[in-house]
Amino acid sequence: MKTNKICPECGSKEVEVGEFKGYGSLFKRKAIIKSSEVDAYFCVNCGYVLTLKVRKPEKFL
Ligand SMILES: [Zn+2]
Repeated sequence: MKTNKICPECGSKEVEVGEFKGYGSLFKRKAIIKSSEVDAYFCVNCGYVLTLKVRKPEKFL
């Protein structure tokens, strides 16, 4: 998935979104049942990770 973000490290516009699933998911402490995938915006050119974003933050309320 392409984004309109620009890498602050190398200036590349080749920023894509990946995701962490399974072991990479963010779990609420002491509440293992609650988890969400985490989207990672990263630069394809240099590998810099711009942003990590929890996809369903409302799960942790
Ligand atoms: Zn870059």
